[in-house]
Amino acid sequence: MAKSGGERVEIRSASKIYGSVRALDDVSLDIAAQEFVSLLGPSGSGKTTLLGILGGFVQPSAGTILFGGRDVTFTPPHKRDIGIVFQNYALFPHMSVGENVAFPLRARRLPKSTYAERVRAALAMVDLAGYEERGIGQLSGGQRQRVALARAMIFEPRLILMDEPLSALDKQLRETMQIELRQLHKRLGATIIYVTHDQREALTMSDRVAILKDGKLVQIDKPSRLHDHPADAFVASFIGEATLLPVERAGGDTVSLAGTPIRTARPLPPSGDLVLAIQTEKLLIEDGAGAPERNRFSARVTDIVFQGESLRVFLALDDGTPLSLRQPSHFEATSRIPPVGERVAISLHPQDTIIVPKAAR
Ligand code: ADP
Ligand code: MG
Repeated sequence: MAKSGGERVEIRSASKIYGSVRALDDVSLDIAAQEFVSLLGPSGSGKTTLLGILGGFVQPSAGTILFGGRDVTFTPPHKRDIGIVFQNYALFPHMSVGENVAFPLRARRLPKSTYAERVRAALAMVDLAGYEERGIGQLSGGQRQRVALARAMIFEPRLILMDEPLSALDKQLRETMQIELRQLHKRLGATIIYVTHDQREALTMSDRVAILKDGKLVQIDKPSRLHDHPADAFVASFIGEATLLPVERAGGDTVSLAGTPIRTARPLPPSGDLVLAIQTEKLLIEDGAGAPERNRFSARVTDIVFQGESLRVFLALDDGTPLSLRQPSHFEATSRIPPVGERVAISLHPQDTIIVPKAAR
């Protein structure tokens, strides 16, 4: 299949109001041609509404949508040339795999003689070469989702919209498909806008992730940037595995965590209430080798949970404040973990000391 080039998408001050509910509240977002952007947020944050506005199924209450600089705000869905993949596949159960995949070509009244070759290429793209004659009922969940993908790609759309397409699959298949989708995106060169409530999924696949909360865009950034520079406590709680602890300003680059001074190497938010976001992997059990500038404190081990590749260690500070850290499950790391009930020295590098405003706005 040829590279489609990818559509540039501009969302300008889009809002959607249902009665008294602001499903989407003044969202502006520019998505570059060939970019993979995820819309990430909890249930009810407006992800599907925004995707519906892009697809043309939902009329915005206000705002403008541009594709490649063209205003498509009032363009009906079938004239937008978008490939769409939903969670529930939405395949036609009475049609074969090949008929399902060819459906968008039929709907567009393209010449029949072109179907076979295009279906073959689309199925090969999703690793289902030779499946044309199979019935949908004979396929596994993962294969059905691949058919849905092939159907979305067959007319080489410049923009593909996906709404939680992997959420019905089991964990292992989901993770395999995430990597496949990522590689497929690179090969296709289409712009992809992908809705998910799974932060790991968003981080794995996306060039940038847009975080939505209560219909508002809170932050859009590269995955690593979101993780290390969350805009506020909500983003910090949603990305990674952070413990959020309220802290007081203690002058200069220092804050106080229940009386313990904690230094950060990052600029402090200029005003408002502050929260320290400790990602589990940034907190180390001291082995005497850590850099002298690390923030050090002492805690008691309250629980140790084995999770395969790593262990999660739950801790309590002297005043009872709970937090946790992760240790890789190799011998040297695990042998540093004292038994439950005992004290442990832990530390956090000032470069990893993330202090965010309680709320961005
Ligand atoms: P998400 O996809 O992030 O879970 P949605 O975009 O589906 O969120 O919904 C955002 C908000 O808008 C929710 O409060 C939801 O109940 C409301 N909503 C969505 N669609 C409709 C609708 N057709 N009628 C009324 N309220 C709706
Ligand atoms: Mg949704």
